[in-house]
Amino acid sequence: MPRPISRRRVLQAALAGSVLPAAGWSNAVRASTTADVIVIGAGLSGLHAASLLASEGARVTVLEAQRRLGGRLESFSDLPGAPEAGGDSILGGYGRVLSAARELGLELIDHAPRRGLSKPEIALGGKVIPRDRWPEDPQNLLPEGSKGEFPGRKFFEKTVRANSPLAKLEDWLRPESRELDRSVYEFLEGLGWSAATIAQNYETNIGRGTSAHDCSILTWFFRVAWDRRQRQLGTLAAKVKGGNQRLPEAMAARLPGDVLTGRRVMRITQSSTGVEVITDNGERHLAKEVVSALPVAPLRWVAFDPVLPPVLSQAIKVLPSMMITKIILQPEKNFWEDDGLDPAMWTDTALGDVRALRQFGDSTEITGLVARARGFVAQRLDRLGETAARELVVKEYEKLRPAAAGKLKAAAFKSWNMDPYAGGSWTEWRPGQLHSFLPAFSEDYGRLRFCGEHTAVSNRGMEAAMEAAERAAVATLLKL
Ligand SMILES: Cc1cc2nc3c(=O)[nH]c(=O)nc-3n(C[C@H](O)[C@H](O)[C@H](O)COP(=O)(O)OP(=O)(O)OC[C@H]3O[C@@H](n4cnc5c(N)ncnc54)[C@H](O)[C@@H]3O)c2cc1C
Repeated sequence: MPRPISRRRVLQAALAGSVLPAAGWSNAVRASTTADVIVIGAGLSGLHAASLLASEGARVTVLEAQRRLGGRLESFSDLPGAPEAGGDSILGGYGRVLSAARELGLELIDHAPRRGLSKPEIALGGKVIPRDRWPEDPQNLLPEGSKGEFPGRKFFEKTVRANSPLAKLEDWLRPESRELDRSVYEFLEGLGWSAATIAQNYETNIGRGTSAHDCSILTWFFRVAWDRRQRQLGTLAAKVKGGNQRLPEAMAARLPGDVLTGRRVMRITQSSTGVEVITDNGERHLAKEVVSALPVAPLRWVAFDPVLPPVLSQAIKVLPSMMITKIILQPEKNFWEDDGLDPAMWTDTALGDVRALRQFGDSTEITGLVARARGFVAQRLDRLGETAARELVVKEYEKLRPAAAGKLKAAAFKSWNMDPYAGGSWTEWRPGQLHSFLPAFSEDYGRLRFCGEHTAVSNRGMEAAMEAAERAAVATLLKL
């Protein structure tokens, strides 16, 4: 049996050898950088992979398309409390994220105490429906026996929790779970929900996908099991003081190697001796190994030589991303004290789901509102363009809440779908895709490996991005 190789030994052996460049490459453009590993994408995943590789002595170059670091961690830093355009809550079970924040000396604000402070209003058919009249309201399409529930995602998730066959979250990738990978629609229909009930309580302010037909219920079984585990591990719901984007910025600042921004990767070429990565400004970067930490949609614009195997190419081509557009609304006055209603609202309008932001250490203080449009509602706002979308959202809010007239300003806008470097908020899995595609992202492709939120198997969100980075970094170290 071969002797197990320690990461350190492999790395030292590799460092003793020569670094590139490879035969057969054009020398017309001089190499801009040479390194042991090129990491593409300076989001949480790429930066964590880079920092692990560097901590083992590898020379790392990070290439990032944008001038800004952090990818889907983006904070509106000039607004009160720096609300998040992207990744928001750091939960109790985020061991990797929490320890990175701790090591970098970042202060966390625990927002868990703000939970339950809002009692969102229900706004359907152009009016706010008083909570006490909701059970009898003709618009209430909840199943019989559940008319008193709050509509939408909360009730849907409760239903999933009560009916999930997964004993533990790791079970979602077991071969036997393949048969659970059906649509949300089939699952809800099997429980006796009518099409109208599904439309109101899944598709309005949709949690995942664009309809109940194109989202896998298996991803929800995983989600509720993961939520349960997070709750078991702690009640924390924190964000970094000054905005979550400060975390990737601090990670990049600590890296010994180059983090080169404004470099959009266009082509990755592998040869027998190394990799060549070409960026949109014509630079040529050389290394022994490469790690791609790009989201799925931007991967579609990267040329791979040799081409990727069919399953992975297909995954990159077809995997959808969740459409979310957020608009931060800044109130000039606490108008909700005038109409006696909660500023948070669950609506069937272009506003989507409006939440009250409580971004300061004092969790009771409302620092703004955020209108979160999802799925086709987000797409509709995107099509209008930012200026018209901001105006429409303010108008819709004022229509439902006359007390807000003239007192709200759309202070910030972010469409994740329109962001070419994200192409959506996170990867969605259509029914039947998970078991075919997810394993393909974890394999080695010669000198190339993939990480990023969508390649993780045991976590979601920020923690998923870091989990995936560990797998890719260790596999890369073993190759050096
Ligand atoms: C609206 C929203 C809400 C969220 N809420 C939460 C939450 O509450 N909790 C949670 O844990 N997670 C949440 N998330 C998810 C979390 O933010 C992401 O999972 C995580 O930040 C993804 O990190 P990543 O490194 O995988 O990808 P990214 O952060 O997207 O990093 C990829 C990087 O690659 C760069 N790039 C793209 N194309 C190229 C190219 N061709 N060349 C070079 N660079 C390129 C991008 O600019 C980007 O910097 C949320 C996300 C969104 C959008």
